[in-house]
Amino acid sequence: MHTARTVRELRSFREGLPGPVALVPTMGALHAGHASLVRRARAACRSLIVSSFVNPLQFGAGEDLGRYPRTPEDDARLLADEGVDLLFAPPEAEMYPRPQEIVVQPLTLAQHCEGLRRPDHFRGVATVVLKLLNLCRPQQAYFGEKDAQQLAVVRRLVADLHLDCDIVACPIVREADGLALSSRNRYLSPSERAAAPNLHRALQVIATALASGRSDVNALLADSRARMSPLRCDYLAVVRPDEFIPLDAVPADSELLAVGAAFAGNTRLIDAVKARTPKRPTEENVR
Ligand code: AMP
Repeated sequence: MHTARTVRELRSFREGLPGPVALVPTMGALHAGHASLVRRARAACRSLIVSSFVNPLQFGAGEDLGRYPRTPEDDARLLADEGVDLLFAPPEAEMYPRPQEIVVQPLTLAQHCEGLRRPDHFRGVATVVLKLLNLCRPQQAYFGEKDAQQLAVVRRLVADLHLDCDIVACPIVREADGLALSSRNRYLSPSERAAAPNLHRALQVIATALASGRSDVNALLADSRARMSPLRCDYLAVVRPDEFIPLDAVPADSELLAVGAAFAGNTRLIDAVKARTPKRPTEENVR
């Protein structure tokens, strides 16, 4: 595996890569969730680039940029073992040689759920993803469904700016108790770790109820919020996967998402569970 730390090195190595080329963008501190994206990309494309960059533009003031986990040696070993051709791991000054004057601002997609709690987050994500797509020029880029709103933003970035790249969504990899794997899970104390699956459980309860025809979304969300203790609920919502506007009423026969975020101590967890609503609400479930 070749490692590029500069834009110049990346461009020169990219020239020699046979297509199709896949890109898996990450912030490092890799785990089995990242590995599942890497494996799918490896199987689908002739050449595989993984980027590892903790993007300061997507962190808000008071968030965990300074203490975000960094495990570069372990990451490089994992990626070499998975047959990655090129690791792009630039320092901040390579990606942002001067303050960024031009940014990509998602509009309504960034106004709800994560976007409401993390102002400017998706602007940072969209801007860095556009940079990475321009630099790596992949035919396919792989993203996890765990960051479901990010996936929606990236899909619109590619569609709205006419980028020539397929976005491939990959399912969430979970621990045996349902907790979605995340680089931030290593912050959790034993008692926080024990409580952390409550977020997934709450989302599952919501998704199962919606699938069985329940349509009183707000009562359902209030019930689930109450059951998440000792986690501190940040938000729970039911959304369309391409819009992320919280729904008060659910449409029939639709693919929806139950999404949410919660704090275990100071660590913020996010998760998403799919819910398909039935063709028609059943009578006993309409309240
Ligand atoms: P990150 O390093 O957290 O920016 O994540 C890099 C990519 O890996 C993103 O597309 C994430 O959605 C994806 N990812 C992170 N955790 C998981 C997981 N548990 N299952 C599947 N994909 C994941």
